[in-house]
Amino acid sequence: MALLIANGLVHTGDGVVAGDVLVRRGRVAAVGADLAPLAAGARVIDAGGLPVVPGLIDFHVHADDEIGPFTLADDLASASRVAIANGITTIVAFATQRTGESLADTAARYLAKVPDRSWCDVAFHLTPTGDDWDWAALARLPARGFRTIKLYTTYRQAGLYSSWDRLAAIMPRLAELGLRLLLHCEDDALLAAVDPGQVDLCDPFSHTLMRPPRAEVAAIEHAIALARDTGCPLHVVHVSTPDGASAIAAARRHHEVSGETCPQYLLLSDQSLRLPGGHRLLCSPPLRAEADRARLEAMTGAGALDVLATDHCPFRRTEKDRFNGDYRSVPNGVPGLGALVPLMHGLWVDRHGRPLEDLVRLLAINPARLAGLGPRKGVIREGADADLVVLDPSGPERPVCSTLADAHDPWSGRTTRLSCRHVLLRGVEVVRDGVLLDAPARGRACQGPGDQ
Ligand SMILES: [Zn+2]
Repeated sequence: MALLIANGLVHTGDGVVAGDVLVRRGRVAAVGADLAPLAAGARVIDAGGLPVVPGLIDFHVHADDEIGPFTLADDLASASRVAIANGITTIVAFATQRTGESLADTAARYLAKVPDRSWCDVAFHLTPTGDDWDWAALARLPARGFRTIKLYTTYRQAGLYSSWDRLAAIMPRLAELGLRLLLHCEDDALLAAVDPGQVDLCDPFSHTLMRPPRAEVAAIEHAIALARDTGCPLHVVHVSTPDGASAIAAARRHHEVSGETCPQYLLLSDQSLRLPGGHRLLCSPPLRAEADRARLEAMTGAGALDVLATDHCPFRRTEKDRFNGDYRSVPNGVPGLGALVPLMHGLWVDRHGRPLEDLVRLLAINPARLAGLGPRKGVIREGADADLVVLDPSGPERPVCSTLADAHDPWSGRTTRLSCRHVLLRGVEVVRDGVLLDAPARGRACQGPGDQ
């Protein structure tokens, strides 16, 4: 059956149209001023003059996965439920190759998690591990929806580290295959040069001293130089420093370079680590000094970065609270998935008075493009998936909620009036007035522009 979202302010991706969106067979059939004559017999949802935005995307999500010895608290079911109730219709999660596993098997293992378990659509970033990659297998993966490769400039002990020499060798080949490199940027040599004997290991604040801003900035500058020399598209994940953001903003004028930051780096400073329970806010890169946080907020507001994402990483409460007098015993990461849209709307639109279009660019248009999901996702255009959100900025006050799992939520206690009046996933209404309708899990793995 056709469906008409009538009388909205439609954020198409090219601008804002006062009017309607016609949906047929799960896709956007038309956008225009008065589509009622085309929509005989269609179910009508009256948007009542509210914004209609493309389904939002969290570009950086860890869920239904193991990180080192830890199993994350969120599986795909719980993660996707809190996501879609807050307007996120696609999450981009991580698929990490296990030792001895073929890349095809890694891809299959993660793709199999989605059907019947996810309430939103899911795409994946792939992390090949080991030194001897199967490049033939890698070349076949873009057709299955894997268009980004995530690597790390640190984490030797976890077996994730790539040296700069190795990155210089890999990046031209990624460029040839049309794959985008996502890079965790903290320079391992600079991290290793900090002497743990100089800090108080009982104090979670020491984490910031052990992972100084210069390690991130140096790694971002090095990565940008390699992107320039090799032509490999580069996306820097979770930028926490204003100098790092500044380097990205300068580089992307000439090269295919982009950057993301996260709510924790925009809204929290390292002083939070000194409060009771501060160890629960340990993440890498760490929270930064207030002056740096404020500069990063101003720069992001001025458009220095391309994506707002969470780096949602929900460790169980008991595992975060293993804090045993050495902050290094605490796993690094915080949840944020359900909080992303309310917090960033509050910061950008309510506090800074920026147009909603800016937020749509950071939460839909850019992440869809960088994940290779455009033009099916991230825009409201004829032929795109009818992932649509009717946003009400003046709904009843409600608590912000990052996660439905048993994980410490850094955003609990905050409230929002932003409400998702209607959320459609490929044309099916799945959320009404912020409440997930009692429907089966309809999420699919995104195979990219050519999928059916
Ligand atoms: Zn991450």
